[in-house]
Amino acid sequence: MIDIHCHILPYIDDGAKHMEESIEMARAAISEGIHTIIATPHHWNGACYNPKRDVLKAVKTLNERLETEEIPVTILPGQETRINGEMLEALKREELLPLNETSGYLFVELPSSHVPRYTKQLMFDLQLQGIKPIIVHPERNKEIIDNPDLLFEIVRDGTLTQLTAGSIAGRFGKKIKKFSIQLIEANLAHFIASDAHNVNTRPFAMQEAFKVISNEFGTSYLYWFMENSQLILNEELVVGDIPEKVTTKKFLGLF
Ligand code: FE
Repeated sequence: MIDIHCHILPYIDDGAKHMEESIEMARAAISEGIHTIIATPHHWNGACYNPKRDVLKAVKTLNERLETEEIPVTILPGQETRINGEMLEALKREELLPLNETSGYLFVELPSSHVPRYTKQLMFDLQLQGIKPIIVHPERNKEIIDNPDLLFEIVRDGTLTQLTAGSIAGRFGKKIKKFSIQLIEANLAHFIASDAHNVNTRPFAMQEAFKVISNEFGTSYLYWFMENSQLILNEELVVGDIPEKVTTKKFLGLF
C-alpha cells in the first residue's frame, strides 16, 4: 500500500522529531501494510519552510538509513504547502515540490479555520500551469464543514481532495467522521492518506479507516482509493465520479 501524506522526515516540521522516531514510524508503516510513503513536510505554514531542495536531501538521508536498518519502506519526496498568494511564483522558482517530484500532483493545505477567497482562482491558475492540485484534509476545515458547497465548487472545477485516515476512523471526533463519509458519498474525495506525525497521537490509522470504508461502501471503493494513490506514482490521471453537493439524510427524508 502507498501512503501519499506523511510527516516522517525528521527534524523539519511537527512530525518525526528525530531519526529514531522516523525509523519507529517506518516500522509502524510496515505493520499497516505500507511499503511506499510520500514524505510531505509542512511548507510555508508560518512555522516551517521546507523548499524542494531541502526535502530532496532529507528524503535521501532517510532512505539511506532505512536501507542500513533493512526496513523495506521506500520514501518518496513531496510537500504540504500552505495556500498563499505567491504559489505560482514559488512554483516557477522551483521551491514547490509536487508529489514524487514529477507527478504534477501538488498538495495544498488550507488554514483550518476558513477558505481564503482566492482559493478557487488559484486552483484554476495552478491547473493552467499543468499542476493537478490536491486539497488535503478538507473534512477538518471549519468553513467547509459549515458550507460544503465551497468544496463542491472547487472539485467541480477540477481540483482533487485527500481525506485523512484518522478522520474516517473517528480519531478527530464523530462529526468529522460523519462529514468524511458524506464527502465520499458526494464524490468529493479522491485519496485517503495517513497524515501521520508520529506513532502515538497521530498514527497511520490506515487499516482502521479502510475497515470503515469497507463497511460503509464495500471493498471496490476501497480499491478505488488505493489505486488512485498508485496512479500518482504512475503519473496517470485520477478521475472521480461527477461531484455532487453534500446533502443531509434529514433533507432527503422530506421527499
Ligand atoms: Fe499533513
